Amino acid sequence: MTSSGDRAAGRTTETLLATARSVQLGNYKPAPMVLTRGEGRRVWDASGKEYLDLAAGIAVCSVGHSHPRLAQAIADQAARLMHVSNLFYNDRAIELAAELVERTPFDRIYFGNSGTEANEALLKLARRYHHERGDGARVEIVSTWQSFHGRTMGSLTLTGQPKYHVGMGPLVGGVVHVDYGDLDALRAVVGPTTAAVILEPIQAEGGIRVPSDEYLHGVRALCDERGALLLFDEVQTGYGRTGKFLGQAWSGVVPDACSLAKGIAGGFPLSAMCVTEKLANALPPGSHASTFGGNPLACAAGLAVLAIFDEEGLVDNALRVGDHLRARIDALVADATLPAAVEARGRGLLQGVRLAPDVDPLALHASLVESGLLTTLAGGDVVRISPALNVTVAEIDEGIDRLAAALAHAPRKQA
Ligand SMILES: *Cc1c(COP(=O)(O)O)cnc(C)c1O
Repeated sequence: MTSSGDRAAGRTTETLLATARSVQLGNYKPAPMVLTRGEGRRVWDASGKEYLDLAAGIAVCSVGHSHPRLAQAIADQAARLMHVSNLFYNDRAIELAAELVERTPFDRIYFGNSGTEANEALLKLARRYHHERGDGARVEIVSTWQSFHGRTMGSLTLTGQPKYHVGMGPLVGGVVHVDYGDLDALRAVVGPTTAAVILEPIQAEGGIRVPSDEYLHGVRALCDERGALLLFDEVQTGYGRTGKFLGQAWSGVVPDACSLAKGIAGGFPLSAMCVTEKLANALPPGSHASTFGGNPLACAAGLAVLAIFDEEGLVDNALRVGDHLRARIDALVADATLPAAVEARGRGLLQGVRLAPDVDPLALHASLVESGLLTTLAGGDVVRISPALNVTVAEIDEGIDRLAAALAHAPRKQA
């Protein structure tokens, strides 16, 4: 399939962009190209131009684009059974829940369709858990500044980035934020009215900020001491992204519940809330639901992703290639001829390069796209590399070489 096919259909980039600008809502600001095809860690636009994709749809396409086994599993399941509602069991959801229980420290699984929904479920679970125990005073949720938990009202309120709150109030009540990594700040607010503390084991959108293990252990001990639940948002850090199946495995801290999404079905919409046995009955029948959540089609995609992880050793690959990626980024930062790169951040295949304050991150990002390399920005000034977990060392080298070339001519902020 070449660009000629798209052109023959009259679908030039220009006509597609013109249509997009007149029919799509203006809430996004996508790069001025239109992607039409992907394979492995490569995608192609409507003009036939090839890109090396080290963004993977923001850490979503965990097994690369168009993986034959994933595509086949989706096609087979679509032809067999797509949706039945949660009024009936379906075999694929049962199988996927059993797989997640097997692979994580959690005992019970609830399925949704997106990260924000899984976090909404966590929020409701935390409040209802205490209510069911007759402790209705525990309604507050403590979250952290710079966190990202999603865009629906509950998750948006949890998100500790005021820029996303502009014009959206009134937000959900009973949420407070404290500095990430600051245990004393948590000690000052967690008390008898706290339902839960929620945090990401690495703040991903916030700029790939990796906390100390001591902090995470301290948060766990504080929650236990004061009777609050500990919730982890592993929407981005989970599913092998950091080189372990869950990001929490690095510290060994097990929360009472966690959310998963992004890489869980390789690009098919699916999310999960995983809870420990003590929370198994925290959401009684009728207290929470999702029409699409846990449908057999999404769960079949989720099962295929796990089968591919196992067959191709992708969590180990994320660790191994992630180490190589980190070494390459460390070298960029150490390179005196590249003052635009000032800090390496991350773990496994969730890595970033923090840019010097005088570099224009948006212009640099645009120049990378132009050069045929897809990355994302995190925290405003961090170039995030979050490729498919089956990325190769050669692809990382190709991408980092291109990044180095762009950094050497990094666009400066206008005075
Ligand atoms: C992406 C993300 C979300 C939101 O997921 P959606 O699927 O966009 O709703 C929530 N939390 C974290 C940590 C994320 O990275």
